[in-house]
Amino acid sequence: MDLPNGDLLSKPPLSLSIVVPVFNEESGLPALFARLYPVLDGLGVPYECVFVDDGSRDRSVAVLRAQHALRPAETRVVILQRNFGQHAAIMAGFERAQGTAVITMDADLQNPPEEIPRLVEALRAGHDYVGTIRRGRQDHWARRALSRAINSLRNRTTAIRVTDQGCMLRAYGRDVVDAVNASVEVKTFIPALGYLYARDPTEIEVAHEPRREGESKYSWYSLIRLNFDLMTGFSVVPLQLFSMLGMSIAGLSGLLVLYLAARRLILGPEVEGVFTLFAIVFMLVGLALFGIGLIGEYVGRTYEQVRGRPRYIIAAVLETESESLPVTRERERV
Ligand code: UDP
Ligand code: MG
Repeated sequence: MDLPNGDLLSKPPLSLSIVVPVFNEESGLPALFARLYPVLDGLGVPYECVFVDDGSRDRSVAVLRAQHALRPAETRVVILQRNFGQHAAIMAGFERAQGTAVITMDADLQNPPEEIPRLVEALRAGHDYVGTIRRGRQDHWARRALSRAINSLRNRTTAIRVTDQGCMLRAYGRDVVDAVNASVEVKTFIPALGYLYARDPTEIEVAHEPRREGESKYSWYSLIRLNFDLMTGFSVVPLQLFSMLGMSIAGLSGLLVLYLAARRLILGPEVEGVFTLFAIVFMLVGLALFGIGLIGEYVGRTYEQVRGRPRYIIAAVLETESESLPVTRERERV
């Protein structure tokens, strides 16, 4: 049965937590504050900004401290002990966020804060997950090509149907946030995890801007690592594909052996074609190595999980009891 906008479920009124991971962004933060707070003030909805400093080595923490002093009621700052990665930082923000909905965004203004009202509109329409698609994405073409390939691979191998997984400007309803918080995965990919728990997901198009200050914190290595986490965290299809491939290759090689045996009986032994044989062997060795590496990815992931180390360690939290944001669950304290 369709409930009109979930109104019959007597939900608590909307309040927003904006979660922003920050890693060496001192130069861009003032511009972010200057655009983000006015947009939120204009919404007329209680809100808090939860900035998570992910072990910055520049003056980001000092800039965040100053902002907390300036807007104590609407600003919460979580300072992590060291760099744990963007998604771990977002998790830290999720766990402290008090809003009935959480919106994540990047600190570098590639996600324009002016799009937040459109996300809120979709939340108000009853969606508990609002994904986004970057219109005219302002990144290097090689990054865009990698994204396109990974998005389509993910669509085919997992149950996650998001068009543009890399865009972090997203909204999550409280139930989805609670489910994400309850997940015990050490390494994860928040947009995919959120989607997994959403009851009524939707997607909207948002603008995308080039990074104005600083540079991307993602090297090719960390991008590839992140995507391995995504694939191995949400699907075992790569492993299954490998067993299928192994089976087909074994079958084909069996046929080849039969053919060569018959040929040898009829035409006598062949000595030519040595290089072809080498080529086939190299290809198979390569495939086998890739397969071992792939199994290693899953074993490594399992190992990290059973080790059970914390996803992140909090060094300090700057927060002020705020009356404006209705408390949706027990506050934890450090
Ligand atoms: N970030 C983070 N920890 C990291 C890497 C990035 O908290 O280890 C933050 C970064 O400060 C930014 C967001 O994650 O707010 C996205 O990073 P970036 O803009 O470098 O990624 P890109 O836009 O190139 O994908
Ligand atoms: Mg960026």
